[in-house]
Amino acid sequence: MSFALRRRLIVLLATVIAIVAGLAPVGYAIYLAYKTTVVNAEKNLHLIAQEIATDTSRLLNDINQGLIALSDLDYKCSPEDVIAMNTMSYDIPGISEIGLINPDRKLVCTSWGPVNPPVQPELPPAQPGFRLLGPMDIGIMKRYGLIALRQREDGSEIAALIHPSVLIGHMGADLGEHGFAVLLRRDDTHLYAWEGNVPEMQMVESESEGGDGSTLLRALFKDGVERTLFAVELDGFPGTYSVVAAADEWILHDWQRMALMLGAIGAGTSALLVFLIVGILQRRLSLQGELERSLQKDEFEINYQPVIELKSGHCVGAEALICWRQPGGKRVRPDLFIPLAEDTGLIEPMTVWLMKKLRAEIGDLLQSDRSLHIAINLSPGHFESDKILQSSSSIFGNSGILPKQIIYEITERGLIDDPDGKAKDIMRRLQSRHSEIALDDFGTGYSSLSYVESFPLDYLKIDKRFVDTIGVNTLNAGLLDTIIDMANRLGLRTIAEGVETARQAEYLLSRGVDFAQGWHFSRPMPATDFIEFVHTVNRRVDS
Ligand code: C2E
Ligand code: CA
Ligand code: CA
Repeated sequence: MSFALRRRLIVLLATVIAIVAGLAPVGYAIYLAYKTTVVNAEKNLHLIAQEIATDTSRLLNDINQGLIALSDLDYKCSPEDVIAMNTMSYDIPGISEIGLINPDRKLVCTSWGPVNPPVQPELPPAQPGFRLLGPMDIGIMKRYGLIALRQREDGSEIAALIHPSVLIGHMGADLGEHGFAVLLRRDDTHLYAWEGNVPEMQMVESESEGGDGSTLLRALFKDGVERTLFAVELDGFPGTYSVVAAADEWILHDWQRMALMLGAIGAGTSALLVFLIVGILQRRLSLQGELERSLQKDEFEINYQPVIELKSGHCVGAEALICWRQPGGKRVRPDLFIPLAEDTGLIEPMTVWLMKKLRAEIGDLLQSDRSLHIAINLSPGHFESDKILQSSSSIFGNSGILPKQIIYEITERGLIDDPDGKAKDIMRRLQSRHSEIALDDFGTGYSSLSYVESFPLDYLKIDKRFVDTIGVNTLNAGLLDTIIDMANRLGLRTIAEGVETARQAEYLLSRGVDFAQGWHFSRPMPATDFIEFVHTVNRRVDS
């Protein structure tokens, strides 16, 4: 796959991940809020239905008791009887008027007085016990109301007229435009709706036990609206239910507002994440792409930093440091691109390039003086496969450079990740060709002495930070001596790095350190300068 295509794919994938990462938590919150909203709304509806049921059954019970108390009335409609009926309709708030219907189904007496001549109200046939009818047209008054009826032993009935406001006043829940509260009889006739109109039900979608003997329903109505309903049977009035219904718009109103808000936050977070991640990726990917292209176009250079034998002052070789000179002439320090090259695997072709380049640049020098060494930096990844063995033998195999002139530098990081001993194996195989191994940046990691001891090493490079403590009173001052002692105990030769002053060089010599490199001797430099440096210094020392 081409780099450009891979880059586009990575950016696309990261964008998708960023969007998901931004939206997923919000989506989940919206889902949770939805669940909570529905559960709360159901609880609320249940409560309303129950309150209506309790209130209404109390009212109906009072009316029933009142009618029972009047069971002894006869058909004469005496003034005492009229007063008794009147008193009852006054005492019981739900009752507007009381009437007596004789066994011939004629209204003969009311709380207003005798009915003369008796009238025949339009009522369904008498039934035993208490029942509630309506809402219906109340004859002469041209009003709608409910009628409570109680049959007596001789087939006659006592009737109570109930003003609709009594029921309406009992429960005034706000159930939204499409919601309603209603008393429902088992025969499906509704007795009164408190709120809204009651459309016909078209289809029950689900039905379940709502707790407390109530029923929870989901139903589609003929007005096209889906509703959630609760039905609670009235205590003491079997077959009569308090039913409340609400449409989704009422139930989900608050949730919709919140979902919109959360959605906006999620979209904002996603956008921010996309912006950040894609921005970072593009920078990184473009650096990676540039690295790849630069390697192909040979835009790298090697700087050689001389290594000096402290005792004699001889230059014994150099460390090869890679340097990236970009087309505009800008130099990029290895610290900036080596980690990226390591992450992307580009370090392998880069090292191959370096080895070929140094073969071309200083092969002759190394051939002319077999005592000279060149140190090559390897990354932890180089110790995970045999590739470095193959590339070094194919590059140096027929060159004038002998394997014994090459020192491979491995950092402490490379040692730390070696669970299966692969690094050790590769180090041993390099050594079996008479190349040497140096532990770079020693002391900057956390490996213990015994751990370091288990690796086949030839040199220990003392990091600049310890050299810097020479002549300075710091907490770490004693560490330098400890490291030198440690290297001696392990039988390793020592190379001090970052030596910047004569004083440091003298101290290191006095402590028996073998080699040193640093600005005090020379900065890293191009091959031609290095070749001249070797000749000048060694000629001067020898004379
Ligand atoms: P390192 O291997 O520890 O290299 C020594 C670094 O210290 C070099 O930095 C060198 O220029 C700098 N240095 C040398 N003497 C002095 C001194 O007296 N004072 C100061 N302040 N600095 C000094 P550079 O060239 O920037 O390299 C940085 C790191 O990049 C190297 O650290 C090495 O870990 C890595 N590196 C460089 N070239 C390669 C390479 O070809 N392959 C791999 N894998 N890593 C490399
Ligand atoms: Ca090094
Ligand atoms: Ca180093």
